Amino acid sequence: MVEFILASGNAHKAEEFAELFSGRIAVKPAPRGLNPDETGTTFIENALIKAKAYYDEFGVPSLADDSGLSVEALPDILGVLSARFLPEKPNYQDKCAELLHLLAGQENRRANFTCVLCCYLSPEEVYFFEGRVHGVIGTEYRGDKGFGYDPVFVPTRAENDGKTLAELPEWKNKNSHRAKAAQAALAFFIPR
Ligand code: IMP
Repeated sequence: MVEFILASGNAHKAEEFAELFSGRIAVKPAPRGLNPDETGTTFIENALIKAKAYYDEFGVPSLADDSGLSVEALPDILGVLSARFLPEKPNYQDKCAELLHLLAGQENRRANFTCVLCCYLSPEEVYFFEGRVHGVIGTEYRGDKGFGYDPVFVPTRAENDGKTLAELPEWKNKNSHRAKAAQAALAFFIPR
């Protein structure tokens, strides 16, 4: 089986990937967390920075993910900087409230969540997989599931009922940006 160490100090992520890969790609926690500077301007660059740092340190294949929320009307904030938006307010309820405030009266509320996985097997063999969910930023904070910006993100769905990702945990498990990127990696490494 293909096996990676996870290029993240966050043990919770290893569990999440084990679930997303249904055990068909092995992802182990790294021996210890590293904190490379995420200086990239794209999700791809930052995923590569993280995966390469872990490969260089531990000498085994590594898997990194980088993700974030991109809002069309606010091109200079969020995106690769999603985790660093409003650093003085670490609580995501406050960050979501500020996002709603910045978009007050804005007609273009289109947004997407993107996840890029970088699978770094060796310097000669590096693969990227991307998943996206499209939608809009809603007009109010709704739902208590999920995390981060989920309560203000309304994904595009046939039901068109205005539900946010924080109200759709089961849908999110199957259709999230991370789930789609993981499915693309599975289709590549474990073709049926
Ligand atoms: P990182 O890829 O772990 O650096 O996380 C990027 C940031 O994007 C997170 O801290 C969240 O703010 C946001 N983000 C990424 N994925 C999601 C998601 O599924 N729901 C809500 N927020 C997310």
